Amino acid sequence: MAGLIIPGGESTTISKGIERDDLAGAIEEAAGSGMPVLGTCAGMILLGNSHLGLIDIETRRNAFGRQLASFEADIEIPALVGEDPIRAVFIRAPWVEQTGKGVEVLAEVEGHPVAVSSKNVTALSFHPELSGDDRIHSWFAAQCREWAASVDG
Ligand code: GLN
Repeated sequence: MAGLIIPGGESTTISKGIERDDLAGAIEEAAGSGMPVLGTCAGMILLGNSHLGLIDIETRRNAFGRQLASFEADIEIPALVGEDPIRAVFIRAPWVEQTGKGVEVLAEVEGHPVAVSSKNVTALSFHPELSGDDRIHSWFAAQCREWAASVDG
């Protein structure tokens, strides 16, 4: 395995699945080994301190409001996709309420972090798979290739 994406969905349901299949240990071990990990929307919540604790963030669920408050925005994340803004789809999205040591804020909306990273772990509030722009996918795939090549020697 060269990388792990915890996608959007419903964080309570995903966390129950992780518990049911006893996956937390394996995920923590993989992340600890340096394997790239990306969490999007509910996945961001799962990576934070209230669940797996793979990145030192406190998140607020449904922070931008419930279903009717879902929205799209063009945001700049130069660290991941270069200078051109990317269309980001927020669906009952969380934001990051607090960041701990070593956490870099990569993008904000309305003054709230929506993209953060710490070493090999990256968390996004939005759904990169829904905008038809695959630059985040390309960036993550490149991280995975780089990591896989480094462990293969
Ligand atoms: N609101 C959801 C949750 O808290 C996340 C929504 C999403 O992933 N699009 O789990």
